[in-house]
Amino acid sequence: MSAYDQTTKELIEAIANIVIAHADELTELDRAIGDADHGVNLTRGFRAVLARMETIGVMPLGKALSEVGTTLIRSVGGASGPLYGKLFVTVGKHMDEAGAVSQDTLVHAGEDAIRVLMALGRSDVGQKTMLDVLVPVLDELRSVRGADLLAQIHGADGGAQRPGCVPRRAQPGPHGPGCAIL
Ligand SMILES: [Mg+2]
Repeated sequence: MSAYDQTTKELIEAIANIVIAHADELTELDRAIGDADHGVNLTRGFRAVLARMETIGVMPLGKALSEVGTTLIRSVGGASGPLYGKLFVTVGKHMDEAGAVSQDTLVHAGEDAIRVLMALGRSDVGQKTMLDVLVPVLDELRSVRGADLLAQIHGADGGAQRPGCVPRRAQPGPHGPGCAIL
């Protein structure tokens, strides 16, 4: 295993573990507007990802992220599976095609992923969806350079905190999941 593969494995494990560690918080957020299953569903999905790390962890970054996405789509279900899954699949596709991770690659991947999620969820910024986090992070990503990148992203203001956002509840039906935030 190369150092590059190790980084990919560590990155994906870190994402999975932080989601799992915050499962209760995610469930509480979902309880306020939905059916309080978000933490359980995402934990199931990211445990499925961790269970496949022997395979996923040795893939190139782009393919690994795509594989995380398809695993989430298969295992999370409901509203979140397709949304989180397509996010990873879309970013992974860009990483795969680019062959290397650069700021431009990340920006293009983010733009495409946001476009995909807006269409899938029929949502826009300001409706208390994941877009309220992803769009400000992408804005920061466009404007920063080099070593400042991670610090700037950590400092990005999640739009979900803005006053005046109107939450949309989950809607049933084949296109409903994207309308929910959780
Ligand atoms: Mg829910």
